[in-house]
Amino acid sequence: MVEPGTNWAGNVTFTAGAVHRPTSVDELRRVVAASRSIRALGTGHSFNTLVDSPGDLVSVAGLPAVIELDTTTAPSRPTVIVSAGLRYGELATELDARGYALHNLGSLPHISVAGACATGTHGSGDANGNLATAVSAVELVGPDGDLVALSRAADPDTFPGAVVALGALGIVTRLTLDVQPTYDLRQYVYDDLPGDELRGHFDEITASAYSVSLFTRWRSEEVEQVWRKERLTAGQEPGRPPAVWHGARLAEEGRHPLRGLPSTSATEQLGVPGPWYARLPHFRLEFTPSFGDELQAEYLLPREHAVEALDAVAELRDLIAPVLLVSEIRTVASDDLWLSPSNGRASVAVHFTWVKDEAAVAPVLAAVEEQLVPYAARPHWGKLFSTAPAVIAGLYPRMDDFARLRAAMDPGGKFGGAFVDRYLPGT
Ligand SMILES: Cc1cc2nc3c(=O)[nH]c(=O)nc-3n(C[C@H](O)[C@H](O)[C@H](O)COP(=O)(O)OP(=O)(O)OC[C@H]3O[C@@H](n4cnc5c(N)ncnc54)[C@H](O)[C@@H]3O)c2cc1C
Repeated sequence: MVEPGTNWAGNVTFTAGAVHRPTSVDELRRVVAASRSIRALGTGHSFNTLVDSPGDLVSVAGLPAVIELDTTTAPSRPTVIVSAGLRYGELATELDARGYALHNLGSLPHISVAGACATGTHGSGDANGNLATAVSAVELVGPDGDLVALSRAADPDTFPGAVVALGALGIVTRLTLDVQPTYDLRQYVYDDLPGDELRGHFDEITASAYSVSLFTRWRSEEVEQVWRKERLTAGQEPGRPPAVWHGARLAEEGRHPLRGLPSTSATEQLGVPGPWYARLPHFRLEFTPSFGDELQAEYLLPREHAVEALDAVAELRDLIAPVLLVSEIRTVASDDLWLSPSNGRASVAVHFTWVKDEAAVAPVLAAVEEQLVPYAARPHWGKLFSTAPAVIAGLYPRMDDFARLRAAMDPGGKFGGAFVDRYLPGT
């Protein structure tokens, strides 16, 4: 056991008593059964108190690593069973070496699979669901130390509640993920997309590649960078994209999402083809920082309101720009996972990387949230937000179903904590 310490960003000091680090599932089961109150700690990349527990924390990172590819029982739908504490970066390279791939990745490869899926972590792409949508089965340790298995096929009534579950149903030990044959992408960056072009052609722009990210610091009408990640078809030579596209200029040198910073830490651009895991994230595996001098917030709203909502945020330009490092705008496909921020609606995700000054950021965050009220914006569960619990409850049509599932799976509230008890109402 070790002291819990802080989250990755260092803005949350965990108040839990200790962190257990079991090295086997049996040991984990004993730890959970003996505990009064316990929550799972992933890699600690969330920016709020979501992880914290009034009792202890437990990390599954020390359980034996598992990557079991299954391409035989369902050849048309290959899957991989992974240990919950595995990080996406570790999984991705191993999966690729065996000829398979995930449908998408978030911007950071250092987060754990279970931690990312628990919050509905996402990448970008009109047709790409968040990372949790790849999960077809979970195995978790329930409050009595019992092992519980749930799957998309066998438990259609409850499984959609058990994937993005904020750690409130138990400690996940394994997940089964949908995979597909490996693929390559190439990425190009365009500079200075005029605001009017974005307004007039939002759907066309986000549909222009497999994954599209827009970066702005809200300092002007223009979107500073558009990152287009194009999926390549074997044997097809796609040709060079136009030098000017929607009024934006094709970058002739590598870019960092934060204009002006050297591109050495960014994934390769300028159209050089590369494997999915080396193009979908914006940052190279080997350059990921181990701690963060930043805070983050993000809101997901129905994509049909994207232009209006972005205009509403832009009204706060003078308030936002001084405390912002950069904003990223992405799209996420609709899904059926009860607590997923993109549940039931194709979404646009408006992300803010703030300077690490919570006092200065808090009023700006509240102002942004106020602007986004008309668009039913759902905050990212793992980032900063101040939306009231009653408002959050009203944003999730299946919230009551989740409360019932939680009451059934964890009747004593062993996996509760101040954050989840505040935002996930009881039955
Ligand atoms: C630099 C940076 C970049 C990011 N980029 C993105 C991005 O591109 N897209 C995006 O959507 N988000 C992004 N995030 C947010 C991040 O993906 C989420 O906060 C994610 O949940 C962090 O995963 P983690 O492993 O660190 O989990 P933690 O933060 O440790 O935990 C998150 C939740 O998962 C639960 N959990 C963890 N392990 C288990 C388990 N074994 N069983 C049950 N529950 C468990 C915890 O209890 C907690 O509720 C980013 C964060 C950072 C710091």
